[in-house]
Amino acid sequence: MRKAFKYRLYPTKPQRKDLERTLYLCRQLYNAALQERREAYRKAQKTIGFYEQKRYLPEIRAELPEYGRIHSQVLQNVIDRVDKAFQGFFRRVKQGQTPGYPRFKGERRYDSFTFPQAGTTGIKIQEGGKRVLLYGIGSVKVKLHRPLEGRIKTATVKREGDDWYIIFVCEVEPKPLPESHEAIGIDLGTNPCFLVTSEGEKVEAPRYYQKAQAKLADAQRELSRKKRGSNRYKKATKQLAKLHRKIANQRKDFHHKIARRLVNRYGTIVHEDLNILGLARSCIAKGVQDAGWGQFLQILAYKAEEAGRRVIEVDPRHTSQDCPVCGYREKRPLWVREYTCPQCGARQHRDVAAAINVLARARTEPSGVSTAQAVSSFLRSPVLQDSLTADQNGESSRRGFCDRG
Ligand SMILES: [Zn+2]
Repeated sequence: MRKAFKYRLYPTKPQRKDLERTLYLCRQLYNAALQERREAYRKAQKTIGFYEQKRYLPEIRAELPEYGRIHSQVLQNVIDRVDKAFQGFFRRVKQGQTPGYPRFKGERRYDSFTFPQAGTTGIKIQEGGKRVLLYGIGSVKVKLHRPLEGRIKTATVKREGDDWYIIFVCEVEPKPLPESHEAIGIDLGTNPCFLVTSEGEKVEAPRYYQKAQAKLADAQRELSRKKRGSNRYKKATKQLAKLHRKIANQRKDFHHKIARRLVNRYGTIVHEDLNILGLARSCIAKGVQDAGWGQFLQILAYKAEEAGRRVIEVDPRHTSQDCPVCGYREKRPLWVREYTCPQCGARQHRDVAAAINVLARARTEPSGVSTAQAVSSFLRSPVLQDSLTADQNGESSRRGFCDRG
């Protein structure tokens, strides 16, 4: 399986210039290739393919010396990106959507270049990982804050604000964890909970989100006071972008931690299918966190695969309306957090009940936990409990998944 490793680069001033220039030239090539395709399509309904465009590359490199300094495979990857943009466009057309036509990339919208065969050519790790030799740039200082694993497949050099990073995608062997017969259902939460489990645990979104959100609003206000295009405006824009990146990183970190804990402990993890969820619930609170859930579920699926765990998606329809004990279905307003089932009298917490229903839908008998077991263990535990036993990491924690730091 593939795994990505991202490291900070510390280029010198001249190297920074060379990196910027490489981005600039790649972007020019991207836009030119896009232009060619657009025209061919518009004039003759003809499509120019990947290989046709790639054939020009040696010529370009021979005639324009600045392109000669860029690795031929980096340039091929640029054409590849144009190709992917078009493939995506045609795919969406076929699906009956009305997608936007592939667009030209402005300076801000083109921030990386890729060595598609970095394992064999274009890149070399030096001095035991203290430096990396980039074709056309030179030997750049790098910080491998965690060891690189597996075989390097591709390497992407990326600019984020004023910082530079290198992302290696490697082929790694999965590392299965000891088998676990425990299964859990999760309900992707409404505020303030990020998720709720079938065991009654509620994971809140960390508080620093809210703090960061407030800061973000300040920065936004600050920006609105500046004159567009002025130096101060530019500076404020940069600061805002930096804050956005910081929040995104924090969120990602939070997602990694929760996914890690779930995967360490449970052999089977069941969640709602997001695609159906979008159709089934038009609840605003859910919508707000959507992007976050997508990322979280991706991380979860990935970690589960690596550890040899199962992740099951189920149809979420009615999971928040059905009584997990007797199946009685009732629509309730969103603000009702707890209720007593009118049919069987069981006291329920709305989201926990939903998580149990989610788990029940997966019919997890093969892994050793039946629905009945899950329900009975739920009934034994106090609904509002918020603790978690020590996970396999050895971090004994009574604080649950939440990061309340
Ligand atoms: Zn009931």
